[in-house]
Amino acid sequence: MNFEDLIQDVYQKIKEIDDKGETASYIPELAKVDPNNFGVYISTINQFNFGTGNCYDKFSIQSIAKVLALILAYRIVGDDLWKRVGVEPSGTAFNSLVQLEADKGIPRNPFLNAGAIVVSDVLLSNLKNPKEDFIHFVRRISNNTALEYSNRIAQSEKDVGYRNVALGNFIKSFGQIENEPSDVLNFYYDLCSLEMSCKELSELFLFLANNGISIQSNESILSESQSKRINALMQTCGFYDESGEFAFKVGLPGKSGVGGGIIAIHPDQYAIAVWSPKLNKQGNSYKGMKFLEEFTTRSELSIF
Ligand code: GLN
Repeated sequence: MNFEDLIQDVYQKIKEIDDKGETASYIPELAKVDPNNFGVYISTINQFNFGTGNCYDKFSIQSIAKVLALILAYRIVGDDLWKRVGVEPSGTAFNSLVQLEADKGIPRNPFLNAGAIVVSDVLLSNLKNPKEDFIHFVRRISNNTALEYSNRIAQSEKDVGYRNVALGNFIKSFGQIENEPSDVLNFYYDLCSLEMSCKELSELFLFLANNGISIQSNESILSESQSKRINALMQTCGFYDESGEFAFKVGLPGKSGVGGGIIAIHPDQYAIAVWSPKLNKQGNSYKGMKFLEEFTTRSELSIF
């Protein structure tokens, strides 16, 4: 498969389409990003790497970081994690509160804001210096010491994080958060503020295409069965109330963020990252979704 020609072709085609999305203006700093940025980068387990467009520019990975938080929490507490957070698609928006009342503070899955807030609470209870320990973990598994949080983005989100404050307090009222909600949220905003380029993202997530083993260092980051489960969660819950559509049109496990990034994994083949800041109504990158749909359709490789 000549991924280079295919990516160039699909990239040029999607670059030209009318972008019907909007940047995530509810976080003021994200609204300032140039909406014309568009980058793609692929890393394969055979060590083929290729990118185009703004693939080396860093952006706010936002909810993609929820996967990294989940991985660290899963490594620390194992299957006990599923007592605190479910593994079921919600069919609701990423910041929804509606199901929590009936579910007594147990979020449906770890990729909703509610779920990631609970995962953040688990990390806060288990790490000595959560902010430092988390970034060290991400740097280590990616072999990339250049990764950083953005204090500017974290502060911007904190200033207007009314729904997340509501979620944190609501879950705490059911006794499903151990720490002070404000401490949990500060850590949650920090992890959402991580910045990476498409190149860095695809290299970092490649281990999920390789049964949990890092291609770069040969380190086992997750067991084969844990890695399979993270992919299953990305497949069923990675795009909130658009997860079914993503499975239908793209057919890969993946995760989006409101910074306009998407990471998608083809087990045993590749990881691919796309970035385009304007989002569709479900909060997923408009052009990113279109790119991946065209790319997986034309490459005719499928996990199904
Ligand atoms: N930090 C964002 C929020 O809490 C993450 C949302 C997302 O990327 N979908 O609203």
